[in-house]
Order: sequence, then C-alpha cells, then structure tokens
Amino acid sequence: THFGYETVTESEKQQRVAGVFTSVAESYDKMNDLMSLGVHRLWKDHFVSSLNPGATTPIGNPQTILDVAGGTGDIAFRMQQHAQSYNSNPNVKIIVSDINPDMLAVGRQRSLALPATHQANLSFLEANAEVLPPKLEDNSLDLYTVSFGIRNFSNIPAALREAHRVLKPGGVFACLEFSKVDKYPLFNAVYKQWSFGAIPLIGQLVAGDRDSYQYLVESIERFPSQEDFRDMIVDAGFEVAGKGYEDLTGGIAAIHRGIKP
Ligand code: SAM
Repeated sequence: THFGYETVTESEKQQRVAGVFTSVAESYDKMNDLMSLGVHRLWKDHFVSSLNPGATTPIGNPQTILDVAGGTGDIAFRMQQHAQSYNSNPNVKIIVSDINPDMLAVGRQRSLALPATHQANLSFLEANAEVLPPKLEDNSLDLYTVSFGIRNFSNIPAALREAHRVLKPGGVFACLEFSKVDKYPLFNAVYKQWSFGAIPLIGQLVAGDRDSYQYLVESIERFPSQEDFRDMIVDAGFEVAGKGYEDLTGGIAAIHRGIKP
C-alpha cells in the first residue's frame, strides 16, 4: 500500500490510521525506543514534569486530566506517578482515551503492573479526539494532554475545538509532537536521513511492517511548523504565553501549550 494520501477523504484517513495502529500496537513501545534511540522517554519525562500534575493549591485538591490519543499509557502513567510521588496528591483522576481499542488494550494490560493507588485513578475510554463523547462535559477538565497523537488526526481544528470545549476556564491544553528542525540545516539533514532511511527499515526488520513506519515518517513531514501549529491553537480560542511552544532536541519534537481563557 501507499500512503501519499493528499486526495483521500477524512474517513479513509481515519481508517488508514486505525490500521497502522492496530498493526503496530504490540511492537509500539519497543519501536519508540529504537526509532528515537530512547530519547522519547526524556521528552515525555520533561513534558510531564513541566506540566507538574497534582500541583494544586491547596495540595491534595482534585484534578481531572484527559490524555487524548493516550495509546499505551506512557503519558498518563507518568502523570499519575508525578502527581502521587512528587506532589503527594492522591486525587488526580486521569482518563486515557484513544480511538484504537488495540492500543488501549495494551495500555490497560500495562497498567496492571502499577501500584493499586495509581490504577485506581486511571480509566480508559475509547474515543475519537475530533468528536469527544458528551459524557466528557463542557468546562469539566483541568488538563488536556496529547502526545505524538495529533498529527494523526484527520481534522486537527475539530480536535482543538473539542479540547477547548471540555477544558475549564483556566484549563491547560498541552501537546507533545514531532516538529521541524528547520532552524538547524545540518542537523536537519542528518535527521532526515535517519527518518526516511533508517526508520522504515527498522520497522521492516523489527516489526515486519515497513508501510506503517513509512506512514509515521510521512505524517511527521506533513505536520505544520511550530509557528503554524501555535496559530491553530490560538484560532481554537486558546491563549499562549510567549511564542507558545518549546523546542526539544533542536525541534525534532516540540511542546505547545494553550490556556482556555
Ligand atoms: N500518547 C502515546 C505516546 O505518547 O506514546 C501514544 C501515541 S501513538 C503514536 C498515536 C495514537 O493516536 C495511537 O494510539 C492512535 O490510535 C491514536 N489516534 C489516532 N487518531 C486518533 C483520533 N482521531 N482520536 C483519538 N486517538 C487517535
């Protein structure tokens, strides 16, 4: 199959993305380590500690967090750990949501290894980020996170509007996503070699699935620049501080944040 899909419809894109993640669910965590040489763990740690979940005044106040495209639980588990161990806050509820039941199943299975106090504050929800279910009510959440998910959405503005809908005033939208290395041409050349050359090959050798990993690389290429994505966040009604984003590893990834006024 070929994934150069400028002309396909939204539902076709959604089906394709579903296929990709169904076929990578089992190998997903191992592949992340290989493709990013382990660096995705550092980015995720930084993302979570910068959001400082559980840091409420007074300490111990409840917080509700939605981790969208939460997949196998990497961000949600880290947030629960941070809330309980770093901030000693046992009242942070985290909903891990994903459109793909296979990714969620892997997440649910992995969560069984967590301490009971962490498991008790985690729940799993099959949901499309573009049309969140009504049970996620307007103005109901403190924090919305999406990590390496949003570039797969067919309709990013719709997902941003939904994020804005479910967050409380003062609630935070936070996104960790692959981005652009354009500011460093030499580093960019090396990075492009790695992503277009090595990643599909690793996908073929390790996961037996070249096409899915080729798709992942192409989806990174198509995703907007730091500035353009920041403008989309602002268009959805969020306020941003400063330039609105933070580059990680020269822009291979970036964190964007917005606050619902
Ligand atoms: N957040 C996890 C992480 O950082 O490791 C998983 C990221 S994984 C690369 C992308 C996830 O996005 C997949 O689990 C996929 O099923 C999910 N996804 C794709 N389209 C979606 C949509 N429209 N709504 C919700 N989740 C979606």
